[in-house]
Amino acid sequence: MSEHVPLSEEQRTCGACSLCCSVLRVDELSKPAGVDCEHQLAEGGCAIHATRPAICRAYHCLWLSGGLEEADRPDQLGAILDLQTVGFETRLSIQEARGGAYEASPRLQAIVEQYRASMPVRLVEAGRFDDPDRPYRVWLPDGVEQRVEGEWRTITRPGAAPERKRLPLFERLARRVGIAFRRLRLSRLDGSG
Ligand code: SF4
Ligand code: SF4
Repeated sequence: MSEHVPLSEEQRTCGACSLCCSVLRVDELSKPAGVDCEHQLAEGGCAIHATRPAICRAYHCLWLSGGLEEADRPDQLGAILDLQTVGFETRLSIQEARGGAYEASPRLQAIVEQYRASMPVRLVEAGRFDDPDRPYRVWLPDGVEQRVEGEWRTITRPGAAPERKRLPLFERLARRVGIAFRRLRLSRLDGSG
């Protein structure tokens, strides 16, 4: 989704980054999340820039919108970051582009520490886009970290041993509905459903 719009000199440009073109889903192109777009150019940018889908024109990650530091362009961090509002809650969303990006990046870890003081930070680990058990982690302001994998949540509190619990029934049901929808969408993208 690089090189979206003409930008003034003061604004950032995507440059050689095209990470969101790999990480995000583009329904208009039947492109699943986590898969390179066929129109991505090796040097960054889009081969169909003039006619790219509306979602590509509209999308601005947090860095492109002026957040984070200049050196935090997503291809340098190995993850794309967004501020998301879900219900009454605003959170920092991090989507890894490759496995271990968080562990490999002291800067990404510092960003998590900075933001968790004021909002939840949710990180979806890189992995198969169609894996319903793809893990995610949530850091909360009070030092609590939750890690969810499948139907299980591990909660780590400062100074305490990790606690592993099965998700509540409502969350398990909501999760199963979400997985069913995702599978249906993927089967349609495959043309097999
Ligand atoms: S169409 Fe262009 S901007 Fe959109 S995902 Fe593909 S390469 Fe990126
Ligand atoms: S991840 Fe951000 S900086 Fe990189 S191409 Fe997408 S919008 Fe541009």
